[in-house]
Amino acid sequence: MKAVDTNVIIHGRGLNEELITIPEVLKELKSSKASTSIHGFHVETYTPSAYCFEKVNEKASEINSQASEVDKKLLALSMEKNVELITDDKELQNLALHLDVEVSGFLDPVTEEKLSWKMICPNCGKNKGCSCGSSLVRKLDQRSSV
Ligand SMILES: [Zn+2]
Repeated sequence: MKAVDTNVIIHGRGLNEELITIPEVLKELKSSKASTSIHGFHVETYTPSAYCFEKVNEKASEINSQASEVDKKLLALSMEKNVELITDDKELQNLALHLDVEVSGFLDPVTEEKLSWKMICPNCGKNKGCSCGSSLVRKLDQRSSV
């Protein structure tokens, strides 16, 4: 069984695997034009525990990930079910690597670098104690190969 995101479900007719995702992903699909493409295509859904979602959120804040709420929930599902995650979303792939969740790309190869960012003021470059009043911007902090 593999956990999949919206994009993989839309293009994943040929996947010879049991697929699982979170209910939000299917809801998203049903309200879009892509709904016809999931006709006759079985995808199980599961809602991950608050505990696993919290773990993902903690790591996301730690590295300043910009993964969406839906993506973080999907990652929590992979973690909880201990299944590989298939996604082409680089932000989500990166977060999965930080949490040691097995991840692979679908149309593109998976990222080969693990990144983390810091938030700094674009004026003075400080990450705290800045009095410029500018909103902080994300800057690459650490990079390591996988
Ligand atoms: Zn500043």
